[in-house]
Amino acid sequence: MLPAQLCIECDAMNTVAYYLSLPPSHPIRPLLGNAIAVAPKSLKNAWPPSVPACGQRLRKRKVPRAVGSEESPDTDFDETLGMEPIVPVYAAPWTTPLPVTTIILPKEDALRALEVVMADKRRRDATCFTDGSLLEGCAGGAAVRVEGGVEKECIGVSLGDGQVCEGEMEGLLCATTKVLRNRCHCVLCVADSQAALRGILSTKPRSGQFCAIRYDQLIRNAMLIIPHLTILNLWTPAHIGTDGNELADAAAKAATKCDPNPDNYVSLTSVHHHIHVLSLAEWDTRWQTVKTGKALRYLDRTPPSLIPSPLYSSSSLSRKASSCISQLRTGFTYLNANRYKSGFTDSPSCEACGALYETRTHYLLECPAWESLRQLLHAACRDIGHFGPLHLSPLLTHPKLLTPIGKFINATEHFAWPCPPPESTL
Ligand SMILES: [Zn+2]
Repeated sequence: MLPAQLCIECDAMNTVAYYLSLPPSHPIRPLLGNAIAVAPKSLKNAWPPSVPACGQRLRKRKVPRAVGSEESPDTDFDETLGMEPIVPVYAAPWTTPLPVTTIILPKEDALRALEVVMADKRRRDATCFTDGSLLEGCAGGAAVRVEGGVEKECIGVSLGDGQVCEGEMEGLLCATTKVLRNRCHCVLCVADSQAALRGILSTKPRSGQFCAIRYDQLIRNAMLIIPHLTILNLWTPAHIGTDGNELADAAAKAATKCDPNPDNYVSLTSVHHHIHVLSLAEWDTRWQTVKTGKALRYLDRTPPSLIPSPLYSSSSLSRKASSCISQLRTGFTYLNANRYKSGFTDSPSCEACGALYETRTHYLLECPAWESLRQLLHAACRDIGHFGPLHLSPLLTHPKLLTPIGKFINATEHFAWPCPPPESTL
């Protein structure tokens, strides 16, 4: 079986290949077209042939635009699939910046800054503490408006499946919405998440863009009514006993217990997370039920990994020894019991002692012909804390036993390349 990470990549490639093979009339094709159209510019060869070369017009002047079948209004395909919409370009680069100042200071300075801004009377009725929380897989955000250190209002929003940062951003959005409704022109929002404070201002195409766009639209609409609006978003360290912060934390935790609004969008990060978790669960089930590799799984239950096993990466182990140990691990060896199964020999018995079956257990642990050579294995096992009789599993899996087992195989000369038959003498 492939390692889980490779399985996930393989599934993703197969899914994309499947979508690309769907007929052009399928409703998902326009989505694929859009995805290809916004592909990174470095992949110039990935542009579809329908996209004209640079400098050419999409259609000639005075020619009406042809409406494709995928744009027909009777299609009942939900293009969003409940996921947050992500637009390639939201605002022009020269757009006026929002009147939002974000201050993120080192811990000590942040506390002093909080004291200073809290003492400012202009922000007395427009001060909010926000927080996000993730409990038992449910995310929530909350905003608490405080006045003179006392809680005045509290808003909590449950997001259902989501991430902590989404809760933090939703809290900021709630707080700003609340104070702007009161027509305050000097707003202070205190949050303990630096990622949320930066993310709420970035409308670049990414997960969480939709929340940033809502924030952007909220403030631009408010500026039509409150032209001198200024918003100060201040970062403060979490869980150090700041009253407002603790209130917001408790409110966010309570919000995670509420039922989420079914119209909420699922973020791209959450979708990625879900797909990843589902793929891993599927891989686990396959790993539990797979029928192949019984001989190896009998010894070693370690799942396949992208990190190579010491068996293949050890510099002290020769290539030949590594190959022989691999054969013993997987059960496809030069021993008679295995060769007999494949029809390469007439008898499965051990030629050295006459035992009925020459299996790997017999060869490594039981055959009296190699008993004297096993002293080395016993000593190596004692060094790693395995006392008593030898066992197959540590012998063929423990990294510190690879070299002794390699020496044992070499000494028995059992895995030597078979000599050509002597020339017949007439
Ligand atoms: Zn034997």
